[in-house]
Amino acid sequence: MTDYPDTQLLIDGEWRPALSGKTIPVLNPATGAEIGTVAHAATADLDAALAAVEKGFAVWKATSAFERARIMRKAAELLRERVEAIAPIMTLEQGKPLAQAKMETLGAADTIDWFAEEARRTYGQIIPARAPGVIQMTLKLPVGPVAAFTPWNFPINQVVRKLSAALATGCSIIVKAPEETPASPAALIRCFVDAGVPAGVVNLVYGIPAEVSEYLIPHPTIRKISFTGSTPIGKMLAGLAGQHMKRATMELGGHAPVIVTADADIAKAVDLMATHKFRNAGQVCVSPTRFLIEEAAFDRFTEGFTAAAKALKVGPGMDADTQMGPLANDRRIPALEKLVNDAVDHGGRLLTGGRRIGNTGWFFEPTVLADVPTEARIMNEEPFGPVAIINRFSHLDDAIAEANRLPFGLAAYAFTGSGATATRLGNEIEAGMLSVNHLGLALPELPFGGIRDSGYGTEGGSEAVEAYLETKLVTRLG
Ligand code: NAD
Repeated sequence: MTDYPDTQLLIDGEWRPALSGKTIPVLNPATGAEIGTVAHAATADLDAALAAVEKGFAVWKATSAFERARIMRKAAELLRERVEAIAPIMTLEQGKPLAQAKMETLGAADTIDWFAEEARRTYGQIIPARAPGVIQMTLKLPVGPVAAFTPWNFPINQVVRKLSAALATGCSIIVKAPEETPASPAALIRCFVDAGVPAGVVNLVYGIPAEVSEYLIPHPTIRKISFTGSTPIGKMLAGLAGQHMKRATMELGGHAPVIVTADADIAKAVDLMATHKFRNAGQVCVSPTRFLIEEAAFDRFTEGFTAAAKALKVGPGMDADTQMGPLANDRRIPALEKLVNDAVDHGGRLLTGGRRIGNTGWFFEPTVLADVPTEARIMNEEPFGPVAIINRFSHLDDAIAEANRLPFGLAAYAFTGSGATATRLGNEIEAGMLSVNHLGLALPELPFGGIRDSGYGTEGGSEAVEAYLETKLVTRLG
């Protein structure tokens, strides 16, 4: 039996309750029962975090990249050592199967290591001068204290990308982590504290998200914002950041298309996509959602995919044989039921699922819809749940047009036996990321981000580091 810890704020190196003593309950999505609490920060706590992050920045930017990398690698080591204690905490608060929680925790350690390596490579340039004796150089300097806002679907992974990029570049940070899943991100941050990150460099708060963001984003101490969450909230926060001329990275919603041509390895496409669709109960911004299958392969793909959905073992994430856990919060259940009913009302065929399972916890059936018209809401709104829509196409032009129809542009997938088709999709699909014939997204060394309504900036690869750096020109004679 895992003890679930109450979560405190981390401000200026000290784990402590909110000044008001106020807390928010944390619920287990597998039972609906309260399992603990999280401290609820108010303005006075945020002021303390702002003072700390300012002080932390002065210390951390003066710490050598070599030393920053050393501390980060130590944090990664501690995270690996603690995986067996941290993963059950994540499963209890978020619902995902324990194996997925372990993978997320170990993946986070790899992310920290990758950014630690990059910390030592924030090179500027020497630019040849026109006049003799002049030296022109660019310096890469940390942008300053960061405010990061992260959601509940990947409690550790969403924090670690922002935190690692900030720390690698010499920035300090206030993380506003998710109130629904607070303890696992706190355990991640504890690894950094225990590894020797100085007081004030990393601060952790929870509260009412809108209150915290409206206070921190305009505050003069904060120089950069990073947000992961829904498109409407992202647009609001990007607007606020713009008003105050703050740098921003926005990782928002998606509605990923999957194009499967008849010459593809259909069995492999079914196998990879069914696993990917129902991972984390579909609560994933890059989850495959609109399947576009070439007519000649439609029946084979649909039968295989539906059988895979039906065979999934749904249950509490702590049970060893569970393949899909509950939804992370109760509000997704009516949201999904409405989307599925609306699809059926529009003439879509419900091949399996579509309903809540039982009345304890927030379980929802793995759901497959087919032949859903574009007017249905689910063809336009991100379901953010275990629902796949399988539609058919006759001409590749139509599949590409459908893939690009929505304003989102985060992830896209394709399975094809034709190199020419793969090249064409690479050129024409409007998305930040396209994975063809395999699952290749979300490694720390690869860009991770969207275009259009899915946001801007990337949270992986060398550009993710660049987002936390200013380029300063120094030109000098003598
Ligand atoms: P929501 O839009 O209320 O919240 C999404 C996230 O943003 C949460 O973590 C929330 O704490 C935070 N948030 C909300 N308002 C905020 C504000 N004013 N300032 C700062 N942070 C704020 O939706 P929800 O019901 O929690 O989640 C459902 C939707 O959110 C999904 O449909 C999906 O589109 C989106 N979402 C996306 C991701 C992602 O990985 N991109 C993750 C979680 C949720």
